[in-house]
Amino acid sequence: MDIMVQKFGGTSVGSPERIQAVAERVLKTQAQGTQVVVVVSAMGDSTDDLIVLAKKLNPTPYGREYDALISTGENISAALLAMTIQAKGGQAISLTGPQAGVKTQDLHTKAKILTVDTTRIKQELQAGNIVIVTGFQGVNSRNDVTTIGRGGSDTSAVVLAAALKAPVCEIYTDVDGIYTTDPRAVKSASKLSEISYDEMLELASLGAKVLHPRSVECAKENNIILHVRSSFSLDEGTWVKENPTMESTRAVTGITLSEEEAMISVEGIPDQPGYAGQLFSELAKAAINVDMIIQSAQNHQTHSTNTITFTVQEEDLAQALQITETTAKTMGAQNVQSEKNLGKISIVGVGMISKPGIAAQMFKTLGDNRINLKLISTSEIKISCAIDRKDAKQALAILHTAFQLDKVTV
Ligand code: ASP
Ligand code: MG
Repeated sequence: MDIMVQKFGGTSVGSPERIQAVAERVLKTQAQGTQVVVVVSAMGDSTDDLIVLAKKLNPTPYGREYDALISTGENISAALLAMTIQAKGGQAISLTGPQAGVKTQDLHTKAKILTVDTTRIKQELQAGNIVIVTGFQGVNSRNDVTTIGRGGSDTSAVVLAAALKAPVCEIYTDVDGIYTTDPRAVKSASKLSEISYDEMLELASLGAKVLHPRSVECAKENNIILHVRSSFSLDEGTWVKENPTMESTRAVTGITLSEEEAMISVEGIPDQPGYAGQLFSELAKAAINVDMIIQSAQNHQTHSTNTITFTVQEEDLAQALQITETTAKTMGAQNVQSEKNLGKISIVGVGMISKPGIAAQMFKTLGDNRINLKLISTSEIKISCAIDRKDAKQALAILHTAFQLDKVTV
C-alpha cells in the first residue's frame, strides 16, 4: 500500500478547530486507500513561549534541558490530533521522535537526524493506525531527547518520507504555496505551480521562510516531491521537484529581498597568499555570517594591492568592523570603510543558465530607474545586487514586473 506523509505546521494545528480540520483531512487521505503518517509542529507560537519561559529562569538555557522543554510543544499537538481522530471514529496513535525511531547526533538544539528505525511506525501502520509523529525532535545515543533546529519539522517530515520510501511529502502551512516573491511586499506576486529543488534552496536560504532549507536538501537527495499547500483549502499548492515541466520558458522564478545588509571594504591589502583566509577566519570565529564577497586588484607600478569588500547583517556590523580593523592592521592594509542601510536583491531561476542577457536585463532595469548598484555577485542560478535600502522595495517591484512575474490579471 502507498504511504503518504503529511506535515502540518504550527498555524495548521493552532486551535481545537484547526486540529479538527486536520483530523478530517488525514482521515480522508486514509479513506482514499493509503497509509498515512502525519508529522506535526507545536501549536501556534508555543515553542516561542517555551523559550521565553526558559530564559526567565536561565538566560542561557541551551542544552539537554532546553531540548527537553522545547520539544514538548510537538508532543501536545501529536496527542491532541490522535485523540481527535479517535473521537471521529478513526484509528490513530501518536509517537514521539524517540518512539518513532528518529536517531540524531549527540548535539542539542541543532542536531542532524542520522537514521530512522521505522519498525514501530510500520507496525502501527499495519495495524490500521494513522501514525502521528512529533516533528522537530529525535533521540541521541544516550537516549536523551534532542531538537533539530527552529522550523525543523519540515525536515522531520521529509526524512520520514525518505525512510518510508514515500514518493511525495505534503507540507501543509498557512500560505497556499511558494510565491514569486513575498506577497506582502509585492501585491502582484504570483503563486508558482512548480519549482525546482535548486531554486527552492536558493529562495529558502535567501529568506523565503515557507520551508526549512534542510528539508529541501533532503528532498533533493532522496528525490521526494514536496507539495507545499494550505491547510485552509483544498487547492493545489506548489510542487517542489527536480525538473519542473511547466513554465520552463521563464528565466527568473523568484526574487528575494533582504533589507538588513551592511558592507565593509578593506583597501590596500598587500597582494599575498593567505590574507583573505586570515580575515574570514577571524570573522568566522566570532560566528559572523559573511554573505557577498568581492575582491578586486589594484596594480600600481610599484606594488600591487587588493580591495576586499563583503556584506554582513547590519546587526553584526559593529562587531565585524572591529574584527576587520584589527586584522587589517596586522596585514598592513591601508584603510577600512563601511556602509550601512543597504539591501540585497536577488533574482533566482534555473532558466538563466540557458538564457543569455539576464544579468544585463537586471542591471539595466535598475539603472533605468536610477538605482545604483553597490556590489554584484552571481552563482549559476542567482544574481544578487547590494543597493541602498531606500531603493529596495522599488527595486523589488520593478524587477518583478521586468521579469514578467506579475500575476496575470484577466
Ligand atoms: N516548533 C518548532 C519551531 O517552532 C519546529 C517547527 O515548527 O517546525 O521551531
Ligand atoms: Mg515552519
